[in-house]
Amino acid sequence: MMPARNAYQIVHDSLLFDGDPTLNCATFLTTWMEPEAEKLIMENLGKNRVDIDEYEATERIHRHCLAFLADLWRAPKNEPPTGTVVVGSSEGIMLGGLALKWRWRQRRLAEGKDASKPNIIFGADAQVALEKTARYFDIESRLVPVSEDSRYSLDIHKALELVDENTIGMYVILGTTYTGHFEQVAEMSALLEKLKQETGLDIPIHVDGASGAFVAPFAFPDLKWGFDVPHVVSISTSGHKFGLTYPGIGWVLWRGAEYLPDDLTFELAYLGGLEKTFTLNFSHPACFLIAQYYNFIRFGRQGYTRIMNSCLINARLLSVALEATGIYQCISDIHRPRGMLGYSEESRVAANQLLLDAARNVKSVGDSSMNHAFNYGLPVCAFSFTDKFKAEHPMADQDVVSTLLRVRGWIIPNYPLPPNKSDVQVLRVVVKEATSEDMINRLVRDVMWATQKMLEAKGQNLADQDWRQHGLHRQCHPREETG
Ligand SMILES: *Cc1c(COP(=O)(O)O)cnc(C)c1O
Repeated sequence: MMPARNAYQIVHDSLLFDGDPTLNCATFLTTWMEPEAEKLIMENLGKNRVDIDEYEATERIHRHCLAFLADLWRAPKNEPPTGTVVVGSSEGIMLGGLALKWRWRQRRLAEGKDASKPNIIFGADAQVALEKTARYFDIESRLVPVSEDSRYSLDIHKALELVDENTIGMYVILGTTYTGHFEQVAEMSALLEKLKQETGLDIPIHVDGASGAFVAPFAFPDLKWGFDVPHVVSISTSGHKFGLTYPGIGWVLWRGAEYLPDDLTFELAYLGGLEKTFTLNFSHPACFLIAQYYNFIRFGRQGYTRIMNSCLINARLLSVALEATGIYQCISDIHRPRGMLGYSEESRVAANQLLLDAARNVKSVGDSSMNHAFNYGLPVCAFSFTDKFKAEHPMADQDVVSTLLRVRGWIIPNYPLPPNKSDVQVLRVVVKEATSEDMINRLVRDVMWATQKMLEAKGQNLADQDWRQHGLHRQCHPREETG
């Protein structure tokens, strides 16, 4: 047996090659929690969430969290919330999809119709969990192509065209991972309501609010996207994204008990009690649920609002600063005046002015009315070279910029937009609570440094250089040469 100290050192050292989570601008996940939250996590590491007989206090915390979310997402108040903690949005999305499939099938069978070809509709900007759900549970996925006009997210009119009698529902994403844009939940619901009046087809919506379900209620309380939108029947989110809790924790809630078919719930006589379970995984750490509750009572609505606002302010600052260089343009739109979408010289100047005005007028970071003047969206900055810069520097390469930023510690991915817009590549920064204004200033400087280095490197094409003349290109093993 290896001494514990050695085993520790081996594992510890091997992990030094991981990037630093604080500088990981690629992830939406929480990379920092308060020491008090960490203390609670440590104190409860050994608890299994599902043992509700033994850990009755934990179960009470679970119910409090569900009540908080039901209120936040404007669920009807006439019954206790139907929902559960899960390991992440993926599990919530799968459970939401399963409930849609079961309800559709029950209805079809009751009408004596074929129930063998279910389909589900969502945008091509979907996170992989949506396609996984469709494939794992044998549902045809109908992907709606994205375009510049749909701001690289769901085109609600094209989505409507894909509906037929076998459509079990739609996934609408509040905050796409590609660019942070919110898809139009209320507008989609209105189109579906019209369809229902005209054809009788009643198509429900599951909102994938992985990030947005914790951003919108605080930063954009004027936006309708939750259970107050008629066709929304279920909502999932990641507690470990803007819920500000370490991974893995997520949530899924239904509009009411009738939207979660009985066939999907199991009643277990478990260790002396009766328990209803409808998660994919049974056992599950309790500590992150406890940490989530800590956040709820520690921050409350006001605290979450302050944090979301400050993430948005820093993301807008980054966006405006990058566009001011003339080298970069943003595909994300959160820094632009509400209703103004896409980069142009006019929108660049307008965004710059708006940010200055906001900085002058905002009295408190806890006041979400500052967001009224800006577009909706996640605190995400997705950016690419401007057309002008590309024309002047045809060799310019965003991949190299991304790689060079790693030298300075930043993890900023460069990736193609969804299929059929994959010719556009974006560098993406997720602005989180731990991303300070100071870090934003540094980041802009380092992006410009990396861009300059990239240009210098590109000016010297390896093939043109004289290293070939030194014989280094000869195909021989170095040992043979020395020997
Ligand atoms: C992160 C994310 C998911 C998956 O969430 P997990 O919590 O990682 O399972 C699904 N959809 C969207 C839009 C996401 O951002």
